[in-house]
Amino acid sequence: MRGGTERSHHGETSEALYLTSGYVYDTAAQGNARTADEEAGYVYGRFGNPTVTMFEDRLALIEGADACQATATGMAAVFASLMSQLRAGDHVVASRVMFGACYVVIDQLLPRYGIETDLVDGTDLDAWERALRPETRCIFMESPGNPTMPVIDIAAVSALAHGVGARVVVDNVLGMPTVQRPLALGADVVVYSTTKHVDGQGRCLGGAILGGDAFFADDLVPFIRTTGPVMSPFNAWVMLKGLETLELRTARMCETAERLAAFLEGHPAVDAVHYPGLASHPQHALAARQMSRGGSVIAFDLAGGWDAAFRFLDALELIDISNNLGDAKSLATHPASTTHQKIGADARALLGIGDGLVRFSVGLEAEADLRADLERALAAAEG
Ligand SMILES: *Cc1c(COP(=O)(O)O)cnc(C)c1O
Repeated sequence: MRGGTERSHHGETSEALYLTSGYVYDTAAQGNARTADEEAGYVYGRFGNPTVTMFEDRLALIEGADACQATATGMAAVFASLMSQLRAGDHVVASRVMFGACYVVIDQLLPRYGIETDLVDGTDLDAWERALRPETRCIFMESPGNPTMPVIDIAAVSALAHGVGARVVVDNVLGMPTVQRPLALGADVVVYSTTKHVDGQGRCLGGAILGGDAFFADDLVPFIRTTGPVMSPFNAWVMLKGLETLELRTARMCETAERLAAFLEGHPAVDAVHYPGLASHPQHALAARQMSRGGSVIAFDLAGGWDAAFRFLDALELIDISNNLGDAKSLATHPASTTHQKIGADARALLGIGDGLVRFSVGLEAEADLRADLERALAAAEG
């Protein structure tokens, strides 16, 4: 709530929004000292901003990280967290089930720069062990994975990765800072799309990278300063206010999601529900160990396939059809035709993304209203 706040001489209660791209030096010598990192202080907006620093410091405190770098989007965070520490000849292993754009970065972009990548079933420890090599520099995983919700043993995979000297990067968007703490489980770097639960009200894009001082000093900060994917002060101010209510919002979302997942599981139009908080989830015991709640996102397979999924979405009156997640407004999407369209049918089959799969991001509406909307849409799905 208060961590990171740096109150100005005006004594404002809410954090100040410093909309400035540059900073003024008192003397030429001071400009020289700041540029040489001999004197603390801001030099240019690409290097830092007081509002952005307040957001970074607050999120670092929540996450238990040495340092935080805010970025323009979640994808800027994912790309910079990897590209800042990789070079040609390095090898990356990633868990296959992930956000569509992360999949494209790892499967298609990194190989263009001479970085070899392997995708594995993240829930299979033997598969990780077989894929790791002496030249493996990074492990990337999303847990729970978007959109089919597999849960990966972060502690066990981190131990394997550290055995070959690789750094572990966890995309913790679905875990959320309030539910899962990858650094405490052994991961080295955590990335967020703060567009999701941190803003949580559908206003701004943003991202964050959290990790240790050595990674920041040697790799990340020089990369960010020269390539420039930083968060704007305005967006940082919105995110900072989002952090004040993050715990309340995500607790309520999880509570509603836990109840609606159980309701969906009992419905005849639904073949399967993928939610870490349900006893039927294949990694439920692991999820109970490394997550404090089940999360705010539920995926489920409709028995009637693609057509049933479209009938379901079109019949919703309260829940919006949208690709976003983590918003105060409940949102539903059809991954096969939207978020995971670009990876193609073969990759979708490998990831278990069926034609009838719906991803449902639970918001802050009354549970009874959401349940009534789901009931109506499920009846339409049944035709
Ligand atoms: C949304 C999302 C991203 C990308 O974030 P943007 O802010 O849209 O760039 C990355 N990973 C996961 C798991 C996401 O849900």
